[in-house]
Amino acid sequence: MKKRSLSGLPAEALDGKRALVREDFNVPLKDGVVTDDTRLRAALPTIAYLREKGSRVVILSHLGRPKAGPDPKYSLRQIVRDLERLLGAPIEFIPDPVQGVAATRQLPRGGVALVENTRFWPGEESNDPELARTFAALGDFYVNDAFGSAHRAHASTEGVAHLLKPAVAGLLMEKELKYLGEILHHPKHPFIAVVGGAKISGKIDVLEALLPRVDEILIGGAMACTFLVAMGLSVGSSLVETDRVALARTLLERGGRKLILPRGAVVAPSLERAAEQREVSVDSVPHGWAIYDIDETTRHDFRARLLRAKTIIWNGPMGVFETPPFDAGTRAIAQALVEAGAKGAMTVVGGGDSAAAVAGLEDKITHVSTGGGATLEFLEGKVLPGVAALEDA
Ligand code: ADP
Ligand code: MG
Repeated sequence: MKKRSLSGLPAEALDGKRALVREDFNVPLKDGVVTDDTRLRAALPTIAYLREKGSRVVILSHLGRPKAGPDPKYSLRQIVRDLERLLGAPIEFIPDPVQGVAATRQLPRGGVALVENTRFWPGEESNDPELARTFAALGDFYVNDAFGSAHRAHASTEGVAHLLKPAVAGLLMEKELKYLGEILHHPKHPFIAVVGGAKISGKIDVLEALLPRVDEILIGGAMACTFLVAMGLSVGSSLVETDRVALARTLLERGGRKLILPRGAVVAPSLERAAEQREVSVDSVPHGWAIYDIDETTRHDFRARLLRAKTIIWNGPMGVFETPPFDAGTRAIAQALVEAGAKGAMTVVGGGDSAAAVAGLEDKITHVSTGGGATLEFLEGKVLPGVAALEDA
């Protein structure tokens, strides 16, 4: 179902009104300093749009997993300076949503306020109607831009959406729904998924959901090792999920020729002994050595397949890309996506590590999803409560 979006609201619905905006400011912090501001930057278009239209912007977000109420370690105060710098505007910090109503009413048109971590208050995660009412009192209408939190039915993502009208998708949420929706509902064929990363376990559901819809799934990363074992090969000391080998075998039977595995791999005795790396075919991994990347032959094979695709979804790196030289396979796939995109394919990347792997190439990729778990659940065809609660278009 298509959702009503912020970009479709008339000027009078925005001008002078208090926009209660749920953002995903769950950023990594080290000693109180934001170490990756991707999520802050991803929120800027919606905030800037609202300010330009004369709204008073009141932002809600969670940060981390505080266990027992307010805890300075998880305070959103720590992100205020960064957000002010990125926005180029001052931010009023609201430490308590109950006492904050007056402050939201005093905001000037175009002013911005940030409310303390939604998870400091009991009832956020249990979607308590009382807390949802407290949040609702902070705005005149609701904008959900936190796609990454939409798979959870919390007071600030789901409950509040029923209390404030209109309740619409922010610009980032709208983009996520548009591109992921196309992938899910009407992908152009050939449609190819590239799946890698550490484990099959977190991605079984998405593999199973994609299998009937795609033309091919190219498998890399440590995940490929579990499949290789299921095919009867020995992969030395590679990362294998022993308890998923049977499942991998079932997928191979069901997937038939759609599942494409690496033909060769880059192996080394250990990550520390990367200098000894060499390429081997997947049936001759030396005893005690491990697979850390896809080899040159596989890179060429995967590239050739991707260049024929009209739709590509990529989740999970092809190797231990944090440790060069084992980033080469992942880089090659990123480059192949860029090439396929230049030839007219729609290219979508999801997953935290995969997004990091295409850093700097964002403008050559159709869409880099910020969602993580929410992206996977969406691709599995699950209903995301935070999306479902928004008004239909
Ligand atoms: P994403 O965050 O994009 O969903 P994952 O979290 O599933 O991706 O997987 C990323 C991790 O997988 C990286 O830390 C990477 O080092 C690891 N990985 C990929 N290939 C291998 C491999 N062959 N051996 C061990 N770890 C691997
Ligand atoms: Mg990850």
